[in-house]
Amino acid sequence: MDIFPISLKLQGQACLLVGGGHIAYRKALLLAKAGAIIHVVSPEIEPDLIEIVHSTHGQYHAEKFNAEKFNAEKFNADISLSSYRLVIAATNDKAVNQNVFEACENLNVLVNSVDDPPHCRFMVPAIIDRSPLIVSVATNGASPVLARQIRTQLEASIPHGMGKLADFSGKWRKIVKEKISNPDERRIFWEDLYASPLKEQVFNDHLAEADRLIEQALTEWQKPKGEVYLVGAGPGDPELLTLKALRLMQQADVIIYDRLVSPEIMELCRRDAEKVYVGKARSNHSVPQDGINALLVQYAAQGKRVCRLKGGDPFIFGRGGEEIQELFEAGIGFQVVPGITAASGCSAYAGIPLTHRDYAQSVRFLTGHLKEGSPELPWDELVYENQTLVLYMGLVGLEKICEKLIAHGQRANMPVALISKGTTPEQKVVVGTLADIASKVEENHIQAPTLTIIGEVVSLREQLQWR
Ligand code: SAH
Repeated sequence: MDIFPISLKLQGQACLLVGGGHIAYRKALLLAKAGAIIHVVSPEIEPDLIEIVHSTHGQYHAEKFNAEKFNAEKFNADISLSSYRLVIAATNDKAVNQNVFEACENLNVLVNSVDDPPHCRFMVPAIIDRSPLIVSVATNGASPVLARQIRTQLEASIPHGMGKLADFSGKWRKIVKEKISNPDERRIFWEDLYASPLKEQVFNDHLAEADRLIEQALTEWQKPKGEVYLVGAGPGDPELLTLKALRLMQQADVIIYDRLVSPEIMELCRRDAEKVYVGKARSNHSVPQDGINALLVQYAAQGKRVCRLKGGDPFIFGRGGEEIQELFEAGIGFQVVPGITAASGCSAYAGIPLTHRDYAQSVRFLTGHLKEGSPELPWDELVYENQTLVLYMGLVGLEKICEKLIAHGQRANMPVALISKGTTPEQKVVVGTLADIASKVEENHIQAPTLTIIGEVVSLREQLQWR
């Protein structure tokens, strides 16, 4: 993060605009909306701008900006560059901008030069104004157009009534705080309230009814009960999350996650949620399963909303079932949110349809996990021409599995694809046959997690590969 966004209170604060043209006018409009007193220094000034200056009880100085001259003697006794909260250089003359920038930097006065990032201490973000709710979008000067595009999208998705809701909440904030002193519990109260019919009442200006609803909610309020959300995070690409997964990730108090959940997905979780890593490497269990189960129970028993975030789908080789059995026994409520399992995600992103009328009418998900160094699988059931096999956790056992399939009658030239880090930017796909895939994998320095697809459908990748 190269910039630090803040929200500045400018009511009654003197701000200086250098420049008297249209660009300065647009900035003046925003500053005036925020209640600033606007001063302008510029040899000329547009009539609209001078009007704003006067309306804010500011001053206009009809001259060129000159850092040396710009001091207390020149203007009123209390006006010098250092007395401004912020300064905006809105000229199309780079030299002037630079001059303003350097003078302000020397005095530690916040300075912005419009469309001139090197001469900015602060940038003015694109704004969505639902006062008192303000959303700002910044790109550190890299792309104002992109910021404006995002603003347009947000404009459409944030109802205009949000400002009223923020006002309403502000009015009740103190009373709610007195009644519910625990900050976590208070947050849940507000979140539940925003999800209730009260929101629509405020949007429609039915404020008496909204007051009645919040009073009722406060009277009926009870300490929240803990709950666990068992959520599938998909195979890696954050865009493969479900809407429900995202919603619960953003409302949970605690996120318990493991190795397969990508950092990009963790970024989407509620920022101030407690994050607990219980990742398991294959032979290096960092928190044993019993420990994870106990953690879930422990947090939920404290009244917390716990998001147990797992790679792929929680019920496919994810031990999700075991975790919620424990919750059931402890009498704790839970919800399960399916995710895109690695087989679906990796096959789609590798251009390999798992079924196809010409090649495979069934698909089978297996785990290639080894027990005492050898995979235990029902080999005879796996040797069919028109069936796709998908092996989870199979890199170590891959060679043995291929040998066994051939030994049980599968043809040695049956196509095989190995997908590493599927759906992520580092996705790699190695294609071979039962006979040679193990050696190809060794040559390609493949990294976990990997998924293996065995079947004639793999040959379709040549035509259907799209990334
Ligand atoms: N519940 C998960 C699977 C957990 S088992 C799901 O539904 O996807 C872990 C195995 O999943 C890994 O060893 C690997 O075989 C597979 N896997 C998960 N994510 C993967 C990815 N992005 N690319 C390749 N394989 C993946």
